[in-house]
Amino acid sequence: MMQRSLAILVLGVGAYGLAAQPALAQGAAEVTLTRMECGSRLAPTEVNLRFSDSFAYGGLKLQFVYSCYLIKHGDDYMMWDTGQAQDAGPAAPKVDDVELLAQLKVKPEQVKFVGISHFHADHIGQANSFPNATLLIGQGDWDVLTGKLPQPNAKSALVSHWISGGGKVETVPLDKDVFGDGSVVMLYTPGHTPGHHCLMVKLAGKGVVILSGDMAHFQENYAKDGVPSFNYDRSQTVASIERIKQIASNLKAEIIIQHDARDVDKLPIFPASAK
Ligand SMILES: [Zn+2]
Repeated sequence: MMQRSLAILVLGVGAYGLAAQPALAQGAAEVTLTRMECGSRLAPTEVNLRFSDSFAYGGLKLQFVYSCYLIKHGDDYMMWDTGQAQDAGPAAPKVDDVELLAQLKVKPEQVKFVGISHFHADHIGQANSFPNATLLIGQGDWDVLTGKLPQPNAKSALVSHWISGGGKVETVPLDKDVFGDGSVVMLYTPGHTPGHHCLMVKLAGKGVVILSGDMAHFQENYAKDGVPSFNYDRSQTVASIERIKQIASNLKAEIIIQHDARDVDKLPIFPASAK
């Protein structure tokens, strides 16, 4: 009698364990990842000035880009970052997000989630173009945009649709498994801003990709745990870079630095997508 109830208990635990596994193997939704150029390239930037708080780079100049991404998960679409605003001056995109999506035959109202790495204007610039989407944003960054946590360079108007209560917001305090199957996960990586996130995307063919947000702005800062001089919390930034390095090592993931022009060809060139 006792043995039987023990067996039932073990079975029960086993069944629960199976049910809790992310359903990636069979019948899993197809996931694709498309990079979009969401701002115009400016002249190469001397990185020692703003992008190193330890004077690490002498006169090194690097070409920065503005990247945002479309993730297709089954029939659902998610934007990761939205790039520069159309009125952002010389860095404004030549072709805006809505037009780029049109080239992919996707309408803005089909975008279910707009995921934001952090609140800086070059990442939330075109968010208001996706009013039907649920805004996924780090709790700390939402606190900045709503004025609870004062920080420089917070342009709340760029997400006015959600601040005014016009759209659904889901604040993300830690990690968030966006579709519930482990294929697209916002990774809590604070430091550059209070609620900063990277995005991990598991692709059936290419493998695991991690989009950096601005945890690091270029390859050298990622490699050397470098911190820009405009940054919320130095120790958090270093810890976040270390976390991502461990994940990359454990999952054989490829890290893509969103602002680094040298990382653009780690993904197929638009309109092609990684699968
Ligand atoms: Zn930033």
